[in-house]
Amino acid sequence: MKWETVIGLETHVELSTKSKIFCGCTTAFGGEPNTHCCPVCTGQPGSLPVLNRQAVEYAVKAGLVLNCRINKYSRMDRKHYVYPDLPKAYQISQYDRPLCTGGYVELKNGRRINITRIHIEEDAGKLIHAGGKVLVDYNRGGVPLIEIVSEPDIRSAEEAVEYLEKLQLTLRAAGVSDCRMQEGSLRCDVNISLRAPGASSYGTRCEIKNLNSFVSVASAIEHEYERQRDILESGGVVEQETRRYDAYSGETSAMRGKENADDYRYFREPDIISIVLTDEEIEALRASLPELPDARKRRYVDVLGIPEADAAMIAKYRRVSDYFEAASYQTASPRIAATFIVTSMFSFISTEAAREEWLPPVSAEQLRELILLMEAGKINRNVAKQTLSRMLETGKSAAELLSPEELEPAGVDVDALCRKAIAENAAAASDYRGGKEKALKALIGAVMKESRGRAPAAEVEASLKELLSKT
Ligand code: ADP
Ligand code: MG
Ligand code: ZN
Repeated sequence: MKWETVIGLETHVELSTKSKIFCGCTTAFGGEPNTHCCPVCTGQPGSLPVLNRQAVEYAVKAGLVLNCRINKYSRMDRKHYVYPDLPKAYQISQYDRPLCTGGYVELKNGRRINITRIHIEEDAGKLIHAGGKVLVDYNRGGVPLIEIVSEPDIRSAEEAVEYLEKLQLTLRAAGVSDCRMQEGSLRCDVNISLRAPGASSYGTRCEIKNLNSFVSVASAIEHEYERQRDILESGGVVEQETRRYDAYSGETSAMRGKENADDYRYFREPDIISIVLTDEEIEALRASLPELPDARKRRYVDVLGIPEADAAMIAKYRRVSDYFEAASYQTASPRIAATFIVTSMFSFISTEAAREEWLPPVSAEQLRELILLMEAGKINRNVAKQTLSRMLETGKSAAELLSPEELEPAGVDVDALCRKAIAENAAAASDYRGGKEKALKALIGAVMKESRGRAPAAEVEASLKELLSKT
């Protein structure tokens, strides 16, 4: 039997605030262990937390771009557990009054993955296992997080990865997080259960903790599917438990029985006042949101006439989109800038991380100048492309790189070149005169070759047609 996989994700995303959620310590990634800490974020007696307003604003923005309802009243609670990554023995989180409720992410197949809630909480420190010892680094403790809880609406590993990619793109575009899985600023817990196709209730789930790459998410799901399937098919029952995933073996193993909300002894955090937002504040945050990747891509396709695939590649990165818009500003055809970016520039800047950062040696204004030279007929497309490669290698502008003769179309006598081509390619010329339109290509090619690609193609074609119609 093929079982149906039911998946719900709990995704933790670090917010891009400069300082931590309850103190002024930096949130910068890395740093010597235990140097980004103070009495507040290490939970020393007598210290008092103060909620970082920026963290709340980012969390509201996250809720808005994920189609959530923003609750005008929410509050912080203490969630108790004992583990060395958290010196206070409780995490400040939100329990029954989260900041955002209801929302969704839409997949390419049109299915909606509903979001139950988004709440704000603090991150914990990091344990480092070294030489038989366990060390703890509290630099990450107190970094603001949002936890995005999905409904159990996901049905496969592919859907889980697509959902996460969509979260990543959307939250990055909104400017609330860099969502770098390799740095742990986006990580997720996978809840998974199986049921017989058509069954109306869900099976018992397991939760696999702290996955930090798309590959691990997919592989943990596949492995857990097989494990639960084997249990069910041999007549057993799946125990509800928390499991860990081992990236080396690709397997999951039991960590502990599942805790219930009761075990956490949630109660209200008395040191932090409730979060109260007005409609005006929420609307102002909505108005400050940039255009999101999906909308941007649609506009590129529908309004600018960019091919779908190119539009998607550009809209995927916020900085590349901004760059493209600046480079194509008031050019005759934005398609040219789009093509140059996704071909020449993307092969030069080829990793995801570098495209995300987007610090090309050619400024948007320099690319625009090059395109304008081409559109003015001063250089043809081939020369423009070659020049762009040289610009990328040297960091120089088109004006610096192109010699006066390359820039001077007068240096190319189109009429003389065309006459010469006709004389030297008599067969093609007579074919064309006899009605074979395609023969013109050979003549255009001859002119291009002779001019070493510098003759403006449109002018050459017009001139050849005119000369050939005369006799
Ligand atoms: P807890 O907070 O105890 O982990 P929740 O009820 O909040 O439990 O659910 C956590 C996650 O588990 C949610 O993403 C939810 O969609 C998912 N989930 C709940 N029940 C199931 C199930 N039977 N199979 C798969 N996922 C589930
Ligand atoms: Mg959970
Ligand atoms: Zn601190």
